[in-house]
Amino acid sequence: MPELRQNPMTKDWVIIAPERNKRPDQFVRHKAQEKIRKQEREETAACPFCPGKEDICGEAVLTYYQQDSPGQGAKSTWSLRVVRNKFPALVEGEEKARITEGSGNFFIKMSGMGFHEVVIEHPGHFQTIATMPLEAVEGVISSYIERYRALIRRPNIELITIFRNNGPRAGTSIRHPHSQIIASPIVPIHIRHVVEEAVRYYDTMGTCIYCNMMDQEKVSGKRVISESEHFLVIAPFFSRSPFETWILPKKHRASFAKISTLEKRDLAGVLINILSRLYHGLDDPDYNYMIHSAPYQEDPADYYHWHVQILPKLYEVAGFELGSGIYLNSTCPEENAQYLKEIRADVSG
Ligand SMILES: [Zn+2]
Ligand SMILES: [Zn+2]
Repeated sequence: MPELRQNPMTKDWVIIAPERNKRPDQFVRHKAQEKIRKQEREETAACPFCPGKEDICGEAVLTYYQQDSPGQGAKSTWSLRVVRNKFPALVEGEEKARITEGSGNFFIKMSGMGFHEVVIEHPGHFQTIATMPLEAVEGVISSYIERYRALIRRPNIELITIFRNNGPRAGTSIRHPHSQIIASPIVPIHIRHVVEEAVRYYDTMGTCIYCNMMDQEKVSGKRVISESEHFLVIAPFFSRSPFETWILPKKHRASFAKISTLEKRDLAGVLINILSRLYHGLDDPDYNYMIHSAPYQEDPADYYHWHVQILPKLYEVAGFELGSGIYLNSTCPEENAQYLKEIRADVSG
């Protein structure tokens, strides 16, 4: 019998309708290895993010260098670079006045101001977070924090979105490990809605809804995939799609940019751990991850709780989802959590 489940943070509903006799490992999509190897040779030559292409991939706004590298500071001895996107969604500017169009000022628009940056996470073209050493992933998180802090101070910036598209089904054609950061002058309605629901819950209960959800999950344990000193990794009760995974910090904090050095190091290990469970358990699936941090420049400490959402791309959003706004998940979050829990993750460091 399918079940309708509600997300208490958004009040959205999802349908959990596990396909009969379909086990989690049947979602593994084995890639045609021969075809991939042939493409790989052509791929590195054309990659704009590989070392040696520094001049063509855009101006660096942040560079980390390889430790003890003899040519420290030289062009190709970097370990991570953050560059401006060559084809940005938003461009630097200060004008955020609304402009109207049509009779009665019916349509509203504004100039596309903001920032769009690419974090080139590693010099190695075939690396991915799941296979990188701990120090490299810690560097990726440090770069997110540095750029977040720099961009949120820019005039008229309201929201910083940090995300990673991994693989063509997740929206990227470039395999070279990279994430993106977009700073925008607006807070869209669905983000505002999540914040408003969190405020409403806090008004009634006097506690953070995310902290309370973690308490619930720890007691039941059936959707917990892993736990570290500072983080809890779960398959949410209301998972929209197969193997949706959330990383929740145990310490209540609204803004990701304010995490401690210890949490940063722990998060790097947790990210490697969960992404390598997905990598080994589902044969390197395409996925998106997004860091959800409180919008607005202040830190509204009590009601909002930053976290990471990982959405493997194992199915396509189709007519029903687009038409109704209700997600149809053909797997069971509890079974998926159990499956990922049992995968031996190759944890570095
Ligand atoms: Zn490359
Ligand atoms: Zn909280």
